[in-house]
Amino acid sequence: MHQPLSDQRGPPEVYVHGAPPPPLTQMLEEQRHVSVAIIGGGFTGLSTALHLAEAGIDVAVLEAKEIGWGASGRAFGQVVPYLKLGEQAILRHYGNERGQRIIDAVAAGPDLVFELIMRHGIECWAIRSGLIFAAHSARGRRDLERRTHYWRQRGAPVEMLEDARCTEAIGSSLYRAASLDRRGGNLNPFAYARGLAHAAVKAGATLYAQTPVRSLTRQNGRWLLNDRLSADNVVIATNAYTGELWPGLRESIIPMRGHGFVTEPLSDNLGHTILPERQSLTDTRQLYSGVRMLPDGRLHGSAHGPSFGAEPRADWRRVDARIRHLFPQLGAVKWQQAWTGWVAMTVDHFPRLHELAPGLYAGLGYNGRGIAAATMMGRDLAALVRGGRDSPTVFPLTPLRPLRWHGIAPVLVRGLVQMYRARDMVDEYRLGPAT
Ligand SMILES: Cc1cc2nc3c(=O)[nH]c(=O)nc-3n(C[C@H](O)[C@H](O)[C@H](O)COP(=O)(O)OP(=O)(O)OC[C@H]3O[C@@H](n4cnc5c(N)ncnc54)[C@H](O)[C@@H]3O)c2cc1C
Repeated sequence: MHQPLSDQRGPPEVYVHGAPPPPLTQMLEEQRHVSVAIIGGGFTGLSTALHLAEAGIDVAVLEAKEIGWGASGRAFGQVVPYLKLGEQAILRHYGNERGQRIIDAVAAGPDLVFELIMRHGIECWAIRSGLIFAAHSARGRRDLERRTHYWRQRGAPVEMLEDARCTEAIGSSLYRAASLDRRGGNLNPFAYARGLAHAAVKAGATLYAQTPVRSLTRQNGRWLLNDRLSADNVVIATNAYTGELWPGLRESIIPMRGHGFVTEPLSDNLGHTILPERQSLTDTRQLYSGVRMLPDGRLHGSAHGPSFGAEPRADWRRVDARIRHLFPQLGAVKWQQAWTGWVAMTVDHFPRLHELAPGLYAGLGYNGRGIAAATMMGRDLAALVRGGRDSPTVFPLTPLRPLRWHGIAPVLVRGLVQMYRARDMVDEYRLGPAT
């Protein structure tokens, strides 16, 4: 399988230009001891570092490339109060008590993200006007109605938008119904990652960039990284970019590519008609369907593309076809940048939290919903490091389970994706054109 870490290109220019300057980083040149070493400088690692440094703990982050280089710097940018699967699936999987706690904690995930942004003054295009989920089929509509009903009963600011209200909110008549969830929002994920890094440094954390951790061994009751940095505790926060550092960790997830695209800025007249309250839009199809407007008037889309393999050439056709179908008023748009990043999927679609050995933890597997979930995971990893395995965490500690069929995962997943694509195409045909 192609290795995520071998990708050459970093986060997209559009995000980098809209981000704060890089945080202060160092090279690991001398022997040093820290209380906690964190491997990976994305949301999981940075949130862990920030929570630990704020508690006065000596912590260092080691990042193979640059801060935010992985999925955190390439995400679509939606901050969601949901996991990939819905409330019923969570209750079935975790049981009523734990399941309910997870549902509630995940629902409060955006609060954590936006509170950190406020408290640390992170400039990352943060908008909290909500998320629009549109129904692309009759079944999708029923699912959205069920979820909206569930959250309304619990007093959450979630509502169904129908017919004219739906058209107005999206700027397109393609869909007849959508759910608007005002708890979520969207942001520049690379800027958010850099902002977390600045806050962690300010609180006392050390960041080592261009520092791939190649060895992790146990010596005299301490962990030793690259034969240079010793630590009492280690957190592995490498998600889809996980290499062979710890046996079986890479084989416990399936890395899959996600793809992002942006246009040149649209004219003000046209830009204002699309998602006028600047919510992000996704729909109920299985494959990627995100659209949002960026603050400088660019349209940002996500679309399905090759799920595996080396960095592909941008496939503008798919995203262009989707945007023409959704917003025919735009005519021909000029696409400007495309990028790709790796999402960590798990077989049951739930994230993982592991104690791999005494004082060695890992949190990963967000299934493309990691901005809030990885920030929460970082808070939990910090609690585990400080309080040990009995500390309360959102997700339970579970044993590491490498997938026996990991080697053939791309073949199986490609088949599944083809099936989803065919199903999505049929639904799209039934939906008809926007008028
Ligand atoms: C295209 C795309 C769109 C997405 N859209 C959304 C979205 O809209 N909303 C949402 O909630 N989530 C989204 N996600 C998912 C989200 O981005 C991830 O779940 C989240 O960023 C994971 O954060 P992380 O810190 O765990 O991992 P990452 O950000 O991937 O960080 C892992 C880091 O570990 C480093 N690393 C790996 N091995 C080593 C080593 N040996 N030594 C040192 N460093 C190492 C890597 O260089 C990398 O920087 C999207 C992801 C992609 C790819």
